[in-house]
Amino acid sequence: MSQAEELSARGVPATISTNGTLNGATNGTQIAPAPLRLDELSPQNLYDKCVALARNLWWSWHPEVTNLFRELDPIRWRQLDHNPIALLAEFTPERLEARAAELVLYSRINQAYRRLKEYLANESSWSTVHAGVLGSKPVVYFSAEFGIHESVPIYSGGLGVLAGDHIKSASGLGIPLLAVGLFYDQGYFRQQLDIDGYQHEEYLQSREDALPIEPALGVDGTPVQVQIDTRSGPLFAKVWKMAVGRVSLYLLDSDVEGNSPEDRELTSRLYGGDTRTRIRQELILGVGGVKAIRAMGIVPGVYHLNEGHSVFATLEAVRGRMERDGYPFDDAVRRVARQTVFTTHTPVPAGHDRFDSGLMEEHLGPTRDALGISHDQLMGLGRVEPHNHGESFCMTVLGLKMSRRANAVSALHGHVSRRMWANLWPWRIEEEVPIGHITNGVHVPSWLSWQMLQLYDRIFPANWFRRMGEPDVWQKIHECDPGELWETHYALKNLLLQFVRRRLSRQCRRRGECDEAVEMARTVLDPNILTIGFARRFATYKRADLLLAELDRLHALTSDPDRPIQVIYAGKAHPADEPGKALIRRIANLRNDPRFAGRVVFVEDYDINVARHLVQGVDVWLNNPRRPLEASGTSGQKVVLNGGLNCSILDGWWAEAFDGRNGFAIGRGETHFNDEITDRRDGEALFKVLENEVIPLFYDRDADGLPREWIKMMMNSISSLAWRFSAHRMVMDYARACYVPAAGGVSCDMTNR
Ligand SMILES: *Cc1c(COP(=O)(O)O)cnc(C)c1O
Repeated sequence: MSQAEELSARGVPATISTNGTLNGATNGTQIAPAPLRLDELSPQNLYDKCVALARNLWWSWHPEVTNLFRELDPIRWRQLDHNPIALLAEFTPERLEARAAELVLYSRINQAYRRLKEYLANESSWSTVHAGVLGSKPVVYFSAEFGIHESVPIYSGGLGVLAGDHIKSASGLGIPLLAVGLFYDQGYFRQQLDIDGYQHEEYLQSREDALPIEPALGVDGTPVQVQIDTRSGPLFAKVWKMAVGRVSLYLLDSDVEGNSPEDRELTSRLYGGDTRTRIRQELILGVGGVKAIRAMGIVPGVYHLNEGHSVFATLEAVRGRMERDGYPFDDAVRRVARQTVFTTHTPVPAGHDRFDSGLMEEHLGPTRDALGISHDQLMGLGRVEPHNHGESFCMTVLGLKMSRRANAVSALHGHVSRRMWANLWPWRIEEEVPIGHITNGVHVPSWLSWQMLQLYDRIFPANWFRRMGEPDVWQKIHECDPGELWETHYALKNLLLQFVRRRLSRQCRRRGECDEAVEMARTVLDPNILTIGFARRFATYKRADLLLAELDRLHALTSDPDRPIQVIYAGKAHPADEPGKALIRRIANLRNDPRFAGRVVFVEDYDINVARHLVQGVDVWLNNPRRPLEASGTSGQKVVLNGGLNCSILDGWWAEAFDGRNGFAIGRGETHFNDEITDRRDGEALFKVLENEVIPLFYDRDADGLPREWIKMMMNSISSLAWRFSAHRMVMDYARACYVPAAGGVSCDMTNR
């Protein structure tokens, strides 16, 4: 058995050596093994260290620590959604010690603990050199969701995962940054399909004591509680603190005494409820967030507003400057705008929150009294045409007006956004509309598989983990033995297929299907077949059914005797999105069609865990949105790190990433004003690229059974894309082009600013 096969057969990454050095330079800090002291051997001491590790989400991007938790009890680990706090609650210190002795975990626990301490204390970092001005003036990063790990369900999808990756990289780079979000005790829904393929939503109540949170304390040492006045009475929120490496994430929670029963549930669910719920959530996030920061004695240097949800923060910040420094309104606005960075995330109109005049007056009335402006002036701040009474209040417009630096999330999205908001600057030509772009990236340690990490560690420079935003590092992949790269990928693909089979058989059992169906689910998919993954939100513009447009042609591909393909789908539709749910049903029900049984599958409940398996194991990642509606997309970037290839419409990040040798393009980026025609052309282009490029390349094998040209493309993909689309590169860009100048440091231009 090769090493890779052995790994895949075991289903979990191999154990990390116990003799001191942790394999891999995860994080770049190598610590010499120190002998254990006696007090480090007591059960309580061991238990406390495990708890300390579990209470900082730093563990979630360190596979050697994740493996520690898993090994304590692999079955419960899976059942508890990979939640180490819940897992440890099932152990007494004595039982933990017994288990640690059995598995020889002592030195690994102690070492992990020491590495965490070192990481938290380490002062020398990229930021000290490049963003020193932020030292005393931290960045406050606002986002309505944060996707950090599957065990902390306060995200729904891409926006949240991006925010999570942003703060993890800020932590890695040592940027003085803290984050503000909402605490959703029921999070986003868990998806289950019924026997008919229809999506049902289930909301699970989180247990606060099973999450890595604690009450945030104010300057006076007592738990922070904020009050937000509205015309219909005050709203209250408490604040939780969560440690994500060196970054503190503060989460506001409306479940407090003093609020009405409905208001106590305001922050229960992500994107639930009507527009009134929505504005109240956003009031808590923005206005409440700024008040909370103030109560903790923090004076921000920069406000970074990730999407429009939190933009009310700017109004509260202005109010604060007027009160504290005595500035008149206009002056205070100018000063706050100078400090504010606003990132817009979607060209889809429904993605931009709008509120009517009545809701605005009810919720922002007391704030505008304090600002000394009229209702009309306030409404004007959220309108493209300030005096157009027919126009509702748009959070994105407020964001653009209240920030000196605004950006889109890819080059193409920059163009689209400048056109979309050009009316805000009618005296400027479109190219000079002040919206730049910083393309999204992903947090490498979170998305890189353990197996690929081992491979990179062997061939990359020793300190590569600290330099992963630099191109040189990744060029080394070309020196890798093609057979080794292919074997590693094959092992990961096997792990993915095992995961999918386990999930599918569980789904069948839950639906009460017959034993045969459950058994069949255990054997679907074949590791030697070209495997395509498609997982994303089922918004209609993402066209999850593009491959289904020609079922016969798809059947010809899945049933080809020599060169077949298989497709794995996953994704949630918004609970109110019936067309999205119909799409899911159509795809899920292909399993009942004998032409596709076993070759086209749908995995329920897409979340960070499902995403991790998919992006680490697929051969090809398919993305076929209606251009230019995908602002960036990040899932394909996760695939790059693990050796998968992208096959995508030239939209979002792929429009600037594709170079002809590092993956596949569907079409050439043309669009037609008629969606039907665009869809038909793109569908045709999709089949063409699969039939003429993807499939032949994958099955073109040499005497050793290796697809040489495919492997070369994997290497091109890794070397040309991994560094560019890393969150480290993204956060460094934000620091240089936005944070440092916003905090009063030397300016460094971003495109269009
Ligand atoms: C990465 C990720 C996304 C975002 O990916 P897109 O390419 O924008 O679809 C969404 N959901 C989950 C769970 C992810 O991990």
